Order: sequence, then structure tokens, then C-alpha cells
Amino acid sequence: MPGKVNSEEYDFTEFAEFPHSDIFEKTERFWEFYEDARSKKHVYYRRQVVGPCGAHARVIDPYDGKIREMVMLGSNNYLGLTYHPKVIEAAVAATRKYGAGSGSVPHFAGTTDLHVEMERVLAEFVGCEACISFASGYSNMLGSVSSLVGKNDTILSDMFSHASLIDGCKLGGATIKYYPHRDVRYLEHLLKKLGDDRPGTLIITDGVFSMDGDLAPLDQIVPLARKYGARLMVDEAHATGVVGANGRGTPEHCGVLGEVDIVNGTFSKALGTVGGFIASSKEVVEFVLNFARSYMFATSLPPAVCGAVIESINVVRTEPEIRENLHRNVRRIVAELSRLGFEVGETESGIVPILIGTKVDTGDLRELGWRLHERGIFTNLAIYPAVPPSLSRIRLGVMADHSDEDIEKTVEVLADVGREFGLISGSTALE
Ligand code: PMP
Repeated sequence: MPGKVNSEEYDFTEFAEFPHSDIFEKTERFWEFYEDARSKKHVYYRRQVVGPCGAHARVIDPYDGKIREMVMLGSNNYLGLTYHPKVIEAAVAATRKYGAGSGSVPHFAGTTDLHVEMERVLAEFVGCEACISFASGYSNMLGSVSSLVGKNDTILSDMFSHASLIDGCKLGGATIKYYPHRDVRYLEHLLKKLGDDRPGTLIITDGVFSMDGDLAPLDQIVPLARKYGARLMVDEAHATGVVGANGRGTPEHCGVLGEVDIVNGTFSKALGTVGGFIASSKEVVEFVLNFARSYMFATSLPPAVCGAVIESINVVRTEPEIRENLHRNVRRIVAELSRLGFEVGETESGIVPILIGTKVDTGDLRELGWRLHERGIFTNLAIYPAVPPSLSRIRLGVMADHSDEDIEKTVEVLADVGREFGLISGSTALE
């Protein structure tokens, strides 16, 4: 890459493996690439949010430094629990009682009675016997998968399972086979192919898929796992609190609550804080807490998180109207966008994907993203190289607190921008 770098001619993948005697060489090349992308306003990661991540958020513009009020559709704070007064109060009360940090890893002094109480509440909520918490959802997936499956085992994964599950598979050294997205027949075909003396087998899938918000057909996967003697692990990161009649997740929605072998989750989305958990039988949980390195060697969650999570679950149980508002908002936005001619994915959660694929090329998509920012809509784009060009999409994270006006503004801006970039045609007027 001699001379001035034109960022449009390169992508991230070219920097990942960059043979050179100085390992810092790639960082200098990458810096040039990024500076060029920044100068073209193609970089809007790490925009700074000033204050709570609410339905409206105050955001520092990365280019002119001014604060602008934006409609927030870029978060996973679906129920607004990061700023729910009861949740904040519980976090503050726990901090006053226990201090700001836990002081140690969980095996030593880092387990308080509040951690254990939170884990008890969670296990009960997701329909399992036992539960332990991790410092993050990512470290939970990494540690629980890699401790349970090793090089003699096989993992059958939905091709869209989250990166944290896949990284856990790689760390454990198991053989991974992917089945097409939500394709239960193909999953059965793979199970059959493993034969009678098959290796230890773990099926892994997201409950709610993080890109499109669609659901794994657990009502079909659970019996299949039973039939073939495989175990099933479900990543409930985007489901807990959102999906199911009582917010108890995809197993509740699919009528298999209490029948999934391992429920993994995070506190970082609808539950409004940070951290992760694995819930399963007492034997599985005991094993993971003694073998998952990301559990054993990482300091436990701050007590504030435990207090907040207990209260978040209480809010999910006692204030169902919040979840109902979220689903109402999702239905409205999906209906409006579909009516305008956008291709909207089959969501059943707080995630609304606008499928773009190769209808707009990657360079124009970056412009499109910037246009949304300028018009006050904070959202995320999944584009190449994060996903193949055929899977590029705009991902909207809808919130229970979005007002009708927020939705109208979002639809209006998307309609204008969609027409400008040839995603839709026709008029934008809202009905
Ligand atoms: N699983 C899924 C499906 C996710 O979307 C995420 C976060 N993006 C994680 C796991 C990791 O969770 P956390 O952010 O809490 O570490």
C-alpha cells in the first residue's frame, strides 16, 4: 500500500493478516486507511452519547463536535431499563451497601450474597435449576462453550449464531458444522450423518438472532436434540425480557420453557446493565464454574449490576406494558416501512432489519449511513466486511419509549434516504 491510501479501495480484512517484520507496520497502514475514511465521513463508530441512551439521545457529532438530539435506534436498550428509576435506585443501593466493585474473582472473595441472589432469580426466570454470572455476555459464551465441548466433540450451529458462541467453539477445539439459517431439516440431516457412535454433540443457536431479530424454531429443535441425544444451548442475549408472554425468552415463546439444556444470556440488552449468565442443571453449572477460564480468571460483576438485574427482572414481571409498547412500536415501524416498499426482515423482537444486500454498493451505503446521522437518526449499518455484501442491512433497535412522533420521523427520514439511494420508489407521505 504505497503512497496515500484511498480507503475505498481497501477493507479491514486486508489488515488482519499483514506479514511484516515489525508487527506495528500494519497499525500505521491502517491509520492511513482510517484517516482517509474519516475525511470522507465514512466513520461514525464510537459516536459519543451524552447522558442516558434513551429514545432520544444527545450525541456529539464526530465531525463538527456539536451536540445533536437524535432518535436513538442504535441501542439494545429495548425496554429503557438502563435508566428506569427503580433499576437505578437498586444499583445505587447495592453500591452503598457493598461498594463499587466486588474486589475479586468469583472463586475467591468476589461472590457476594447479592450475586447468589441474582443468580437464583435468573435461574427461576429462565426456567432452569441453577445459574452463574459472568463479567460479560461475550465472556460467558466463550467460557461456557469452550469448557463444555472439546476436540472430541461436534458442534452443530446455525450459520447466523453470534460470534461469541463461534469463538467459544473455536477455543474449545470442537469440530463445527453449520446448518443453513433456521433450517431444521438440514440440522436433522447433520444429526443423522453423525451416525450411531456419534461424538458428543452440542447444537447451538441464538434464540433471537442479533442481526434480523428473527427467532430460532426451538419448538422443533428441542425434540430433535432429544431424538438424537444431542444437547442444546441457546443464546438469549436479545430475547430475555423481550420475547415470550412474560418476557422469559424464546423458550417461553416457543412453548419449551424449562426444556432447553443450556440457556445463555446477557444483562447488556433489555435488562439494561452489563454481564452474562449461563443457566442449566446444577451439574452443568457446577462444571462450568470450575472449568470456564473466563469465569475463574475474571473479577466478578460489581454489586451494582446484581442489584440492578434483580430489579430489572422485577420490572419485566410487574410492568408488562413496557414490553407491550415495544412490540407495538415494532409492529408500527415494520408496517410503515413495508408499505413504503422496503424489504423488512421477519422480526419478532426489538430488532428491525431493513435488508439491502447488493441493491446499494458498499461505498454508497456508507454515505447512506451518514445521511441518516445528519437527519438525526442514530442507527447501525451491517455492511461489508462485517457481513458479506449480500447480507448488508440497516439494523434498527426499537425501544418501548419511542413515541409515535419518533416513529413518524424515523419513517419519514428513511423514506427520503431510501428514495435517494434507490431502495424504494414512490411517495413518502405517512398515512
Ligand atoms: N450474544 C449475542 C447474540 C449478542 O448480540 C451479544 C452482544 N452483541 C453477545 C452475545 C455478547 O454480549 P455482551 O455484549 O453482553 O458481552
